Amino acid sequence: MKPIQGLHHITAAASDPQRNLDFYETILGQRLVKTTVNFDDPGTYHLYYGDLVGTPGTIMTFFPWPNMRRGRRGIGEAAAVGYAIPDGSIVFWQDRLIQMDVEFSTEDNRFGDAAILLQDPDGMPIELIESSDPTTIDHWGQGPIPAQHALRGFHSVTLWLDTLDKTADLLKDGLGYTFVNHDGERHRYKAASNDRALYVDLLKKPGMNRGAFGAGSIHHIAFRTVDDEEQQEYLDLLRSAGQQVTPVKDRQYFHSIYFREPGGVLFEVATDAPGFAYDEPVEHLGSSLKLPSWLEGKRQQIEDVLPPLHRNHVTG
Ligand code: ZN
Repeated sequence: MKPIQGLHHITAAASDPQRNLDFYETILGQRLVKTTVNFDDPGTYHLYYGDLVGTPGTIMTFFPWPNMRRGRRGIGEAAAVGYAIPDGSIVFWQDRLIQMDVEFSTEDNRFGDAAILLQDPDGMPIELIESSDPTTIDHWGQGPIPAQHALRGFHSVTLWLDTLDKTADLLKDGLGYTFVNHDGERHRYKAASNDRALYVDLLKKPGMNRGAFGAGSIHHIAFRTVDDEEQQEYLDLLRSAGQQVTPVKDRQYFHSIYFREPGGVLFEVATDAPGFAYDEPVEHLGSSLKLPSWLEGKRQQIEDVLPPLHRNHVTG
């Protein structure tokens, strides 16, 4: 069993799906790689964004509920999504955000790197962090961002916690992360790899209120495992360490197990396979509504209630 290689995806709640699409695809240049529904609530979308093919470590997913109230940040949740941008790209992104009328601020020194802090249309904190770490992604050539400045998948995710020790122990002993450093109350852990989506930052917020879930809240973060066999080993290991872990769930594009880490954040371990080209070719990813076989019989009813989506960057 290999240690975890990094994040697989991050899933959050949104309100208006069109506004969500416009932001992630048109402004950030993340390709909509899958248009499907929430399998537990098929009258709502589940939208997946990533690089050209939705490489693990680039995948941001949303459940948009059009009338959902905004969430409130607090402890016990993932509170910010960090994307990596190439060293030297910060001016490109500052100019782009000004041009697109998106408010932001700049942080000069996040463990030595510069970062742009902004929010998505539902108030979810996003950070664009300059990084010289080598990363491999499949650039979306037909998207709005030139390859030299495109997001390089996730850099990090930040968890807000009352205390750090138990979560840190789980990252280290359960998932194979190593402690990197701390800066004030921010403690950084790194996955056992040198590619994408390597960092989990634990930010200590003692005595703060718990987060209230709503639009703009991160629902869970998923870690990568290669295949079903390795996932089973993680399931056994986590259960023997006393975690309450769900049985394996078929999410069509990967298989998932879930558990709540000691600080209250929902964690998932997801398989890299089968991936997003499972039910449509790479050139058409995201362009039509995909349903799992058990919902195909209800396609007409589902399409009737989903609001239409318009893409500025249709490919294929
Ligand atoms: Zn997930």
